[in-house]
Amino acid sequence: MSDKAIFLDRDDTLIEDPGYINHPDQVKLLDGVAESLAEFGEMGYKLIVVSNQSGVARAIVTEETLSEIHSRLRQLLIEKAVKIDKFYYCPYHPDGVIEKYRKESDLRKPNPGMLLQAADEMDINLSESWMLGNSSCDIEAGSRAGCKTILINQRIDQRQTEPEKIKPDYQAVNMKEAANIIKMQNRSSTNTNIQTKPFIIKPHHQVQPMQTQQDKTQPDLPKKEPNTQNVSEHKIEKALHNILEQLKSMHRDNIFDEFSTMRLIAGIVQILALASLFAGIWFLMSPTRDNNKIFISLAFALVLQVMAMTFYTMQNKK
Ligand SMILES: [Mg+2]
Repeated sequence: MSDKAIFLDRDDTLIEDPGYINHPDQVKLLDGVAESLAEFGEMGYKLIVVSNQSGVARAIVTEETLSEIHSRLRQLLIEKAVKIDKFYYCPYHPDGVIEKYRKESDLRKPNPGMLLQAADEMDINLSESWMLGNSSCDIEAGSRAGCKTILINQRIDQRQTEPEKIKPDYQAVNMKEAANIIKMQNRSSTNTNIQTKPFIIKPHHQVQPMQTQQDKTQPDLPKKEPNTQNVSEHKIEKALHNILEQLKSMHRDNIFDEFSTMRLIAGIVQILALASLFAGIWFLMSPTRDNNKIFISLAFALVLQVMAMTFYTMQNKK
């Protein structure tokens, strides 16, 4: 099974870039890089540095010094419990002053040569891999190799590629944010995989065919396969039945929730209002008609009715 990798630009992505680095003492890790690379390792990614080093062609740094610089970088990261799996660099440049390095190269970003070489040598699945860098040439190289890309620092170098080609999948202000983006992407793709997996219920046990006399006497007959399909169907049926019961229970709970204290009080007040109204009518129809009693009863009925309506309204707004 192929590995997945994080391809990392070196200068201004992993370490500070003062121009051309030509001594190991100049290697200084950027903030948060070691911690983020450790997270990538925990997520199962190989860490591969892919760096344009035209300083070699320009006679600013030798390949031997470059090797020492990379050893220093490797050492600084090992001290933080992070291991770089491999360094790739391109020493070539068409304007180089050293003849053997003066040429175009497929390895030089924005060409994807270094990533393709790494994929071939280290069995890397490029579509599961990421290219992280601070310039458009990193993004184009990653994109052309078939990786997902994150532009770090959002500084786009338009000298090297056309603007329409520089479209990173994501942008991040630093390596920590890049790590968070990759973490979230992995999480969401894992969730998607879980949702798209077929619903399979494995039977707890397999039904064994009963040993019959006929079986004993006819040992050459092919053995019947256990009927696991029926067992699965039974399990599915049972699961659906449980779901149905839960839905019914939830419906019952909703109905019960509607029977609130507020509604009960409103009902009682409504009954009292009707009772007061009937009392008022009773006094009105009475031979010994008492206007005070009629007035008080109707007033009570009115007040109670208003209260009942208020309680109903409050219940509905709840
Ligand atoms: Mg860079």
